[in-house]
Amino acid sequence: MTQKAWLGLGGNIGDVRAALAVALRNLSAHQAIKVTGVSPLYKTPPWGVEDQPWFFNCCAEVVTKLAPEDLLFACQEQERLGKRERIQRWGPRTIDIDILVYESLEQFDPGLTLPHPRMLERAFVLVPLADIAPKLQIHNRTTKKWARESDQKGLEVVDTTNDWWRNTDAA
Ligand code: AMP
Repeated sequence: MTQKAWLGLGGNIGDVRAALAVALRNLSAHQAIKVTGVSPLYKTPPWGVEDQPWFFNCCAEVVTKLAPEDLLFACQEQERLGKRERIQRWGPRTIDIDILVYESLEQFDPGLTLPHPRMLERAFVLVPLADIAPKLQIHNRTTKKWARESDQKGLEVVDTTNDWWRNTDAA
């Protein structure tokens, strides 16, 4: 049986656009995961501690045969690859991949809470998610409505094409 799920990806160290693109391509090459949609790429200025790089964010829709825990494992594998320190030119890179929603599933396991407990406070998650799944309901409201009501200050689109992740070279 296959299920749909939505992922939130982001990072702010190194060539994040390249790291996100590679992570998405690796996920789509997984035999039990198909990436069926990727949002435009966004960036947001750092908040709080301001002397750090901008954040890049996007969301992806996947169809998968994996149970939620196994999908999380596959995402964490990409985080590990993306976090690997490189002594060359572009330095370390950090990416974070969360499962935002796993179709029809609500659970409160501390190791995996679904829908993701902090996503509703974050415009940088809600806006790209609403781009690819505007009618998806989270706690009885569409992502489009959640996104419209979120604080979008500073959120900028970097690339509006939905296949930027296929066309971005690895760093
Ligand atoms: P962070 O480093 O802040 O992204 O936190 C990652 C940890 O949060 C992971 O080790 C997961 O066990 C846990 N977690 C709980 N719910 C989720 C979720 N929906 N997606 C990703 N990680 C989750």
